[in-house]
Amino acid sequence: MSKHDPEHVRVAVIGSGFGGLGAAVRLRREGVTDFVVLERADAVGGTWRDNSYPGCACDVPSHLYSFSFAPNPDWPRTFSGQEHIRAYLERVADTFGLRPHIRLGCEVKRMRWDADALHWEVDTAQGSLTADVVVAATGPLSDPSIPDIPGLDTFDGEVFHSARWDHNADLRGKRVAMIGTGASAIQIVPSIQPEVGRLTLFQRTPPWVLPRVDREITAAERALHRALPATAKARRGILWGIREVQVGAFTKYPGVLGRVEKLAVRNLHQHVEDPALRAALTPDYRIGCKRILLSNSYYPALARPNVDVVASGLKEVRGSTLVAADGTSVEADVIVFGTGFRVTDMPIAERVVGAGGQTLAESWKDGMAALRGATAAGFPNWMTIIGPNTGLGNSSMILMIESQLNYLADYVKQLDALKGRSGERVALDARPTAVHAWNHGVQDRMARTVWKTGGCDSWYLDANGRNTTIWPGTTSAFRKETRRVDLAEYTVLRSARTPAPGLRAVPAPR
Ligand code: NAP
Repeated sequence: MSKHDPEHVRVAVIGSGFGGLGAAVRLRREGVTDFVVLERADAVGGTWRDNSYPGCACDVPSHLYSFSFAPNPDWPRTFSGQEHIRAYLERVADTFGLRPHIRLGCEVKRMRWDADALHWEVDTAQGSLTADVVVAATGPLSDPSIPDIPGLDTFDGEVFHSARWDHNADLRGKRVAMIGTGASAIQIVPSIQPEVGRLTLFQRTPPWVLPRVDREITAAERALHRALPATAKARRGILWGIREVQVGAFTKYPGVLGRVEKLAVRNLHQHVEDPALRAALTPDYRIGCKRILLSNSYYPALARPNVDVVASGLKEVRGSTLVAADGTSVEADVIVFGTGFRVTDMPIAERVVGAGGQTLAESWKDGMAALRGATAAGFPNWMTIIGPNTGLGNSSMILMIESQLNYLADYVKQLDALKGRSGERVALDARPTAVHAWNHGVQDRMARTVWKTGGCDSWYLDANGRNTTIWPGTTSAFRKETRRVDLAEYTVLRSARTPAPGLRAVPAPR
């Protein structure tokens, strides 16, 4: 390497949320120490760092929403608050010795595949480097989505998104407009309702809301988990098993979800007496089609006298007047957008330039499609964690992330094995036929699921109505599918130690 050559690493991981930190731990465990974790923010934690809105908590139980290799016997509640999950991720970074690998304030601007050198050129806010393998662990909940509302620039008051909460904004006594009724909004509404003057909720679609069975984990339980780690493992196993059994209702037999709707309706009626409000809050699609929300405080907050529900989306802003699609107009001092994230177009894809000179976003213009949720044809040695169709409707994403880490670990191992002692450079490029076959299979299974048949529009669906986000099966089925990298699904690219023009593509062994 000449002194002008950029730094080279074996693996560049982008992002330091659950996916990125998990990848880092897994790489170290596989004996790979020559890697960096590039993080655009000034701290680790991903979505659990960014989402600090009042009431932010996880709706997957704590003992399941954590790494299997980093159990925490001390979770204080059955469902963790944001601050506990964030602290957990900080501890993971310390415990597993990840800090020396992590570069904060190091946003990745662009990645370009060098087909001669068989590596990625990665431009970051702190300079350039090259990497044999890039792992994009940027997550689907990282870039806020704010709808393009005409006249928003004429609004004089504070405006912010749930994932960019303005902690300097004083909401006391103010007229606050909350836009959206997703998982974030239903936690924000009851948290701010007692302090605001007037709260107006712009509801485009009512969500299904079930009670949240949340309680403190007692000191005795925690002591038991500490003394006998097998008890925490068993607890996790039970939480996982229940969700594995439930998934069939979402994927194969959505009809049975009608029984769950009855519970949700009972929950609504228990807390809301006004028939008009009840009607406005009653969904007209199958439960599970959109993410099922859990809350004991959302409906009671909506029934409070200082809250109005506008059963229509926000359409326009005229100064301090907010106009809904149904013509209702409301005065507000503050607008809070709980309008979700850019999920189906994966913003990092715009920054990845593959072997053919196309960006991944261009290659995915008709919808995201990866092989086993990880790799894309024409983008050798590049993979995503929480890639297309790896999301879940009813269980812990950490399970899916760990499966993808198995795939990453085997990918790196297979590259090493192919390289052998030859000193050649080696890369794997997903075959278009394999990518197609995988996605065809996924979409085939998707056809019967509640996400397709439930009669709703959700962020699971892309602009073409294809569900490119959710895995239509159990977490164990996904684990099985991602245990090993099947070389028959890849073209092996090789080049001599001195790059170019010795590049040749050889068929993968079958
Ligand atoms: P989201 O689920 O995408 O919800 C966005 C909301 O904004 C929807 O209700 C949508 O209405 C609404 N919306 C969009 N444009 C609107 C407009 N012009 N007027 C009125 N409403 C509008 O976003 P999120 O709540 O941030 O949640 C995103 C994901 O993050 C969740 O599904 C979950 O995976 C995760 N999350 C989890 C937790 C948890 O564990 N408890 C908490 C927060 C977030 P429509 O329904 O009509 O589209």
